[in-house]
Amino acid sequence: MQSSQITDSHCHLEQFEDPETVLSEATDVGVGRVVTMGQDEGSMRQALELASRFPDQVLVGLGIHPVNVVTLTAQALAASVSFLRDHAAEADEIGETGLDYKWAVDEELQQAQHKMLEIHFELAARVQRPVNLHSRRCLRQVMDAAIAFHRDTGVHAQLHWFTQSARLVHQTNDAGIFVSVGPSILQDQQAADVASEIDNALLLIETDAPVPIGGEAGHPRRARDVLTKLAALKGVEEDVLAQHIERNFVRFLGRDFPR
Ligand SMILES: [Zn+2]
Repeated sequence: MQSSQITDSHCHLEQFEDPETVLSEATDVGVGRVVTMGQDEGSMRQALELASRFPDQVLVGLGIHPVNVVTLTAQALAASVSFLRDHAAEADEIGETGLDYKWAVDEELQQAQHKMLEIHFELAARVQRPVNLHSRRCLRQVMDAAIAFHRDTGVHAQLHWFTQSARLVHQTNDAGIFVSVGPSILQDQQAADVASEIDNALLLIETDAPVPIGGEAGHPRRARDVLTKLAALKGVEEDVLAQHIERNFVRFLGRDFPR
């Protein structure tokens, strides 16, 4: 086991057949905690179950993924919203929420995603939990929404997988928005260059596992490879950076963990 444990700040643990093995494989390389992000009613239920089974290792995001906002039946979506409202206070974070214009191809669908994002923001402010945000083909829209939310409420926001534009990262740095970096920086030089621009005090690590990246299956243990790469990019010792990023994570969360 490595000396400093780090957190995979965005993954989908319930999508693995054997989450217990995944957690122990991750812990073996120093990834001692994961945040598992709910995406609909079923995965929110599973996320809460995993957190109660592994209270020292699993944190829970409760939310409805923007792709689900436009693909679920009206009935399933309503059930997800009511589950989210009923259980928001049990979450460590609100999300995965955000916008996805790959799927929301017209104004009506985009409006539906925006409306759902607002519901997540209202709940996050009410229960005082940070938000975990997805953005695809609408980086600026999600970033602007995150900045306004953080400015108006003081509650933190994380832009997940937000390593596409150095210009936007300079704006998130100025606004105090957290950005998580994933395994895309291991192969994609442009993503690595953007990652090196993220303010050290706002930097988080994630994997989005089990989503495969660069032809390799996703796994929370890859957060360790991301840390190694980030340390090289930033020219700091890996263990020092690990401790720094963990302090960021606790600040983002707004409370101690384990609870
Ligand atoms: Zn995700």
